[in-house]
Amino acid sequence: MVATSISPANLILDWFDLNQRSFPWRATGGEDPNSYWVWLSEIMLQQTNTTTVQPYFLDFIKRWPTVNDLASAKLDQVLHAWQGLGYYARARNLHKCAKIIVEEFNGEFPYDEKKLLSLPGIGPYTAAAISAIVFEFNATPVDGNVERVMARLNNVTKPLPMVKRELIALAKNYTPQKRFGDYAQAVMDLGATVCVPKKPKCSICPCKSICIGFKAGNPEKLPQRSPKKALPTRYAKIYFMRNNQNQVFIRRREEKGLLGGMMELPSTEWSVQHFDNLEESFLSIGIVNWKQIPNSVKHTFTHFHLEMQVYEGVADENTDVSGIWCDLDDLDKQAFPSLMKKVLKHSMSYLKI
Ligand code: SF4
Repeated sequence: MVATSISPANLILDWFDLNQRSFPWRATGGEDPNSYWVWLSEIMLQQTNTTTVQPYFLDFIKRWPTVNDLASAKLDQVLHAWQGLGYYARARNLHKCAKIIVEEFNGEFPYDEKKLLSLPGIGPYTAAAISAIVFEFNATPVDGNVERVMARLNNVTKPLPMVKRELIALAKNYTPQKRFGDYAQAVMDLGATVCVPKKPKCSICPCKSICIGFKAGNPEKLPQRSPKKALPTRYAKIYFMRNNQNQVFIRRREEKGLLGGMMELPSTEWSVQHFDNLEESFLSIGIVNWKQIPNSVKHTFTHFHLEMQVYEGVADENTDVSGIWCDLDDLDKQAFPSLMKKVLKHSMSYLKI
């Protein structure tokens, strides 16, 4: 479909018609978009790039071809299949949302942005993306790619996050009155392949003739960002405990909160206090010969760094714990987050097991 008049939206749509990226979740050749696929991919793409997401997406739709199948899966299976994608709250919300879609919406995603927003794991960006891409509604998803394109096209030099609302308003203003789904994907593609963060490819950009940032000479500096605050560090002691059958003690984290529902090794509280001041309630379980494994394990979450000192010990018949004793060979079947995988690797390579 070729647009007729020159407007930013038409330039972008004409470019999209020739240059759109191909993804397994995208409809091609006049097919209707699959709402389950679009939703699943959008949740996976929150904080993760398309290259990483593609094999996970294909694996999910093979295991669970429909939203009904996903809703019937066990949370543990979903968390396990999600391993490596990070931000596990997304997987828990994905599962919760699938159940709601099946139980309350008859297996059909609602088209209305407000209803979509009420579902677990769906924020303003994802709601607008589903509404525009699946249902052709007048909705404008705005993510980092879109913010960057808007800031550059208009030479917005004030920094994010202060200027966020202005960029959202600009993005809405640019949205055409037709082809809402194509346009949403077109701006995403332009931001991801042409108007890229470090070296925008202005020479091949369809918007070069109207881009004020390009004319001003330094589009790569946009959008500006207010300096980030340094992340705080938290500390914890964590315990790699075996029994005399060479099983490792693991347990499940509480459903709510960071890494909720995932498996873990027991640890102290993750505290702003240094290791030396941590309260070690787990030590009261009967093992007296804990040995510290040299070097700590470090991991960074969105809001803080975590440093863990790892201890290893062997439980005897007096050890009183509630959790799971897992065979060493079965550890890779458990839904461990990356942090726990690092701790396991650190412990097992030290113990040579
Ligand atoms: Fe981005 Fe350059 Fe295109 Fe402007 S001309 S939108 S800066 S790629």
